[in-house]
Amino acid sequence: MRIHRGGPAVAGLALCLGVLAACGGSSGDGSAKGDGAAPPTVGGTTPQSAAGEDPAEPEAVDGSSLRGKVIVLDPGHNGGNASHPSEINKQVQIGNGSKACDTSGTSTNAGYDEHAFTWDVSNRLARLLRAKGAKVTLTRKNDTSVGPCITERAAIGNRLGADAALSIHADGASASGHGFHIIEPIAVKGHNAKAVPASLKLGKALRDAYHSGTGVPYSNYLGENALDRRSDLGGLNLSTVPKVFIECGNMRNAGDAAKLSSAPFRQRIADSLAKGFASYFS
Ligand SMILES: [Zn+2]
Repeated sequence: MRIHRGGPAVAGLALCLGVLAACGGSSGDGSAKGDGAAPPTVGGTTPQSAAGEDPAEPEAVDGSSLRGKVIVLDPGHNGGNASHPSEINKQVQIGNGSKACDTSGTSTNAGYDEHAFTWDVSNRLARLLRAKGAKVTLTRKNDTSVGPCITERAAIGNRLGADAALSIHADGASASGHGFHIIEPIAVKGHNAKAVPASLKLGKALRDAYHSGTGVPYSNYLGENALDRRSDLGGLNLSTVPKVFIECGNMRNAGDAAKLSSAPFRQRIADSLAKGFASYFS
């Protein structure tokens, strides 16, 4: 679970192979695009109210555009994945090849697991969006079971005809990598092609909101201005509705890990992403 994409493929371990996980995006490709934004003070953040109101940010989107919108949130991985390698490593079709059903994700050095992070952020975000009248569905019901497979994570949004979908992750890149990035789809004929233009719009809205709301800088190791595009993620390839992934930070980087491990900071993440959705629908 601590081996990132591109690491050795050790049979029997539920590796984070970047399948759907995208939790090991580190490839050291040198595409540094750090924007120099000052990192926020973790301990100094103030928990936001449950209704998502933030008087400190008067420019905030009011959220009225969220009313009635169908939004699917996909908390990456699951707490039971690591102990069920045979189920998780089962191959599924992702439109342009096959991948493992799911992966177990990464963790911080202190042992805070990515699946717990994604579950927590997704629930915080769901509460904010529902408070603004959105209809929110999560792709899993708890943080203790297995899967679902990446195919089902995409199918849930498709069946609901979701207005937008977001898969939430944190990365497991090399320790020197820091910052966040959005992963946008590349058209896979016969699958996600019609949803790609709207997905790109969604990606930019969430990037801008996350950046301004959390102060987390653009990734210094992947993407360009925090936007990456991939065709190897089943969750994107198979989505017929607008969908992107976010890698909220790098759990293997000490600075990012401190932020991601902070509950007040996770609330700030959720508040920022809620504003990103509101902006997208405005
Ligand atoms: Zn992940």
